Amino acid sequence: MVKILNSCAIAAALLLAACGPSGQSTSTMSPAPKVASTDTRVAKHLFGAIENASTDRPRVYGGYSTGCLAGGMQLAETGPTWQAMRLSRNRNWGHPVLIDYIQELSAKVAELPGWEGLYVGDMSQPRGGPMRTGHVSHQNGIDVDMWMLPPKRLNLTRTERENLSSISTRRSAGAYTNSNWTPEHREVLKLAASDPRVERIFVFPGAKVDMCRNETGDRSYLRKIRPWWGHHYHFHVRLSCPRGSPDCTPQVAVPAGDGCDDAERWVRDILDPPPPDPNAPKPKPRRELQVRDLPQACEALLTAN
Ligand SMILES: [Zn+2]
Repeated sequence: MVKILNSCAIAAALLLAACGPSGQSTSTMSPAPKVASTDTRVAKHLFGAIENASTDRPRVYGGYSTGCLAGGMQLAETGPTWQAMRLSRNRNWGHPVLIDYIQELSAKVAELPGWEGLYVGDMSQPRGGPMRTGHVSHQNGIDVDMWMLPPKRLNLTRTERENLSSISTRRSAGAYTNSNWTPEHREVLKLAASDPRVERIFVFPGAKVDMCRNETGDRSYLRKIRPWWGHHYHFHVRLSCPRGSPDCTPQVAVPAGDGCDDAERWVRDILDPPPPDPNAPKPKPRRELQVRDLPQACEALLTAN
């Protein structure tokens, strides 16, 4: 649910597409010139219609918001310390490193009072790619949404998993946490961020500030907790590019420091919004991602076994 990244991702994709075959010369490492794709089909309809992962080895292609996933693994619908939610969406797929991460994190969370484990929200589609509804990112198999609702039981039926809702943990448009937010939520996010496989975590600004103010020990993990819009029914975990995926595009690194001043600034801006900048560039009109906007391997993945 990281919507602002979209225009950047599309701009980057368009730039690449605009380079054309002659643009290949900028990459001296390229083994052989490739012809740029001209496939203008809307990618989300194609990736959204595929029900199974490809059979090749697991590999991440492209970025979080313009990518795809080969050899995806399905998270078991129910495990000892988790349940995947909204099974009808068929978005409980990811790179094996994400599956491992979810299993291990949920086992740690299950030790906390009041938490039987984790309710796992959207991951990726079987072959990743853009989705027909909901997300801009979650495209390359290394993003996952975790529900803020502490699981009381892990035997929810399919129907219950469709109908049960998570809980919001914010008030004042995300400037503060509300009474659903507990010290255990802080602990869950700390556990989630302390794993070295994690690149960053998105959560509403009030939660980050609460964590900053309550942390009396090691603060290093706070750097990975990033304030963002929304993200009060769930938090969003993003892993770093895994080993063995040289075509995975990393995100610009999180700045140094714990980011607590930045989170405080977000909160101030929510409570007292700055006047709009008259010189701000007009938002560019978005268009749907087309197959040619994605890495070429993603086009091949559409028809791979
Ligand atoms: Zn998300």
